[in-house]
Amino acid sequence: VSAEAHRAPTDGADLLEGVDLLVFDKDGTLIDFHAMWGGWVLDLATDLDRLTGIELSDDLRAVLGVDRATGMVDPHGLLAATPMARIRSHVVDAVVARGVPRRRAEAAVADAWRAPDPVGLARPLADLPRLFASLRRRVAHLAIATSDDRVPTERTLDALGIRGLISGLVCADDGIPVKPSPAAILRLCSDVGVAADRTAVVGDAVADLRMGRAAGARRVIGVLSGVGDRAALEAVADVVLPSIGDLVQT
Ligand SMILES: [Mg+2]
Repeated sequence: VSAEAHRAPTDGADLLEGVDLLVFDKDGTLIDFHAMWGGWVLDLATDLDRLTGIELSDDLRAVLGVDRATGMVDPHGLLAATPMARIRSHVVDAVVARGVPRRRAEAAVADAWRAPDPVGLARPLADLPRLFASLRRRVAHLAIATSDDRVPTERTLDALGIRGLISGLVCADDGIPVKPSPAAILRLCSDVGVAADRTAVVGDAVADLRMGRAAGARRVIGVLSGVGDRAALEAVADVVLPSIGDLVQT
């Protein structure tokens, strides 16, 4: 079948036609990326204020790229794609910049530091149990490919009530190449026994969509609920939707 035949019509035709495996990204696709990371920055700032006696939330938001008015996370800022160790050193620098001696700043950050709470900060972008149950009536297999690690991801999926509805999960620490490599999709296809050209990939970032393209997915679907802007997603996607809720007719 030619690549042209795989292009999804964008005039309301069924996006799930011919799809036996639907693979979702997690952050920005299933749950609100901005609530997760914006909330984490505020929690961290609250603890650092207490430990240093200085009001630091504006400093941290500026350094880490969280808009003060909207709470939106800058998709090109530090939080979007920086290892936690480097984020931490930027936070120490921000405390030092307010006049705290470096050793005290490092001790305060060490005290306040925590991974984002994968349950408390996870705000679903749709009624996920209902949506996944509805999708399961149309598509044989639902799966998730995420750049997050397995333990927090499984905790999040449990809390969201969808872990029992998915057939496959690939995480960043599973030891296979990360997005935009097609490896996660090919692994999921192999795990559930579905060909890549019977697979659709849904994500909020260009890397999700490139992963789908590289794997030879039947359909690549962008969502505007996360970090990707419309122009960037449209350059790669078959179709761009406001959010995953738009995958099914309501
Ligand atoms: Mg994402």
